[in-house]
Amino acid sequence: MALLEIVLEGDPRLRQKATRIRTVDDGLRKLAADMHETMLDAPGVGLAAPQVGIGRRLIVVHVPADYAEQGDPETTLTLVNPEIIKAQGSVVGQEGCLSIPGWVGDVPRADAITVKAIGLDNRPLRIKAHDFLARVLQHEIDHLDGILYVDRVEDKATLLRVPDDEEVEGPVVDEREEAGRERERHQREALGVGVGD
Ligand SMILES: [Zn+2]
Repeated sequence: MALLEIVLEGDPRLRQKATRIRTVDDGLRKLAADMHETMLDAPGVGLAAPQVGIGRRLIVVHVPADYAEQGDPETTLTLVNPEIIKAQGSVVGQEGCLSIPGWVGDVPRADAITVKAIGLDNRPLRIKAHDFLARVLQHEIDHLDGILYVDRVEDKATLLRVPDDEEVEGPVVDEREEAGRERERHQREALGVGVGD
């Protein structure tokens, strides 16, 4: 396996529509393995082939357990020719992109989606996703059509600078906010104050 170079905004390869994959072969499996390694190294929760300069319809996803919410299972996906066949609801959430380091912004996305794809074994797959995973998948599938999250930011005032070491791909989970809430809860418990006071 090998780490691949992540292409940055301004590179025309991020703006091209990626081509459909006819069959999954060993070359594609090698690319998928390298993309998983690159994503984990970044680290990011998703990566699309155009982000490593390859104009093919392939995305990888890895969401660690409890990442967005306690109790969420670990999710690892490799999707060939992914396509959203059903989308419901709309929710605004913060996103970042490894191809646009140092920025985050608020993006409206469908709340629940169904995705059709092919797996690395050439078999058809169907995935139902909501909340965090639905946002990751919509972000990555957009990359295959040359669309970046910044294109979908409706209120440009929500585009914010973040330190480079807080780079993300897809949805942002604010760990500081989570940690703050947890600390506050412990303090309340220590003081014997009930929740809601
Ligand atoms: Zn991205």
